[in-house]
Amino acid sequence: MPTPALEQYLDEQLTALKTQGVYRKLRIVHGPQGPRATIDGRPVINLSSNNYLGLTSHPKLKEAACRATEELGAGSGAVRTIVGTLELHEELERRLADFKGTEASLVLQSGFTANAAAIGPLLEEGDLVISDELNHASIIDAIRLTKADRRIYKHNDTDDLARVLGEVKSKGYKKILIVTDGVFSMDGDIAPLDRIAELAQEYGAITMVDDAHASGVLGDHGRGTVKHFNIPADQWDIQVGTLSKAVGVLGGYVACSQKLRELMEHRARPFLFSTSHPPAVTAACIAAVDLMLSDEGQQLIDRLWENTRFFKQNLEQLGFNTSISQTPITPVIVGEGARAMEFSDQLFERGVFAQGIAYPTVPRDKGRVRTIVTASHSREDLAEALNVFEAVGRRMGLI
Ligand SMILES: *Cc1c(COP(=O)(O)O)cnc(C)c1O
Repeated sequence: MPTPALEQYLDEQLTALKTQGVYRKLRIVHGPQGPRATIDGRPVINLSSNNYLGLTSHPKLKEAACRATEELGAGSGAVRTIVGTLELHEELERRLADFKGTEASLVLQSGFTANAAAIGPLLEEGDLVISDELNHASIIDAIRLTKADRRIYKHNDTDDLARVLGEVKSKGYKKILIVTDGVFSMDGDIAPLDRIAELAQEYGAITMVDDAHASGVLGDHGRGTVKHFNIPADQWDIQVGTLSKAVGVLGGYVACSQKLRELMEHRARPFLFSTSHPPAVTAACIAAVDLMLSDEGQQLIDRLWENTRFFKQNLEQLGFNTSISQTPITPVIVGEGARAMEFSDQLFERGVFAQGIAYPTVPRDKGRVRTIVTASHSREDLAEALNVFEAVGRRMGLI
């Protein structure tokens, strides 16, 4: 017999999701993740993955994962601080520090936990964190777990950030942390790190960027937003990254000074209390970073940007509203949430998968489908997708 209180609660919650129109089923991918994929049994052009460089199925990553499993086994056996630190983990961390131009880095199980690992040990009572209003959920949750005071600044608005810094100047905070996404996942716009760095320096604030959607995308060899703005790596305190998007595998990392790494080794709760990556994951990540730093990697990044320009320009020429995107994340804004969902469904019927996104993830009048092209889409894939966008867009009166 299920517990009545639990049954009642679950029924209420699920009914509420359905009445709000936000209840959804998980879509199933049959076979590998790629520019074309079979989703819920239907072959489609896949415009919704974060697999920017197509690395999830790159032969070098697969080979590294298989070899590491054969040699070292399927799991790591313990948390890092007991007997779960493999040579491979340290090797990946040296590679990532090199990639980001920092003294050190620390790898976590996911990008989500990397934010908790960085922010948790850093902030105490008497500190302040100033956060962009559209920062990722993992940053928000990481902040909630600290005893620091919080202030929010308007999205990408450095005048508003300056206003907040001015207001708190005389409050005697021990430390102030400014934290932002590098590229925002809903609009594909880039945080103004250059101006944020100037303000941080003026007010003695600590700087942190979460480059989940920027690493492998922006800056030479995909080194991220700090590199994109040509900020010397030693003038930006903390660069968080994920190994789950462009890197194509799984995990997160904090690239930072050696001292911060040492503190995280002792105080970061996801590091202390959760088992480290298996050899296959770590070896595949090492192969991915090596690849990104090679000529082949730069070529993939160039392809990603050529595809991005081609797809974005054509969407705009067709008359779609692609908002303020500056990166491969290209939203197509349609207005009301229900219309965004219908647009996505109709694209899917005709062989294109682009996720519909509605309130509360985005403002009520900014419902959209979100597209992400990758380096592995061919021109034919994108031209075919554009034809479908045009046909459905006309049918629905969007263009
Ligand atoms: C995707 C994302 C994460 C989470 O990364 P995972 O490796 O998937 O856990 C964290 N921060 C931002 C900004 C993201 O876009």
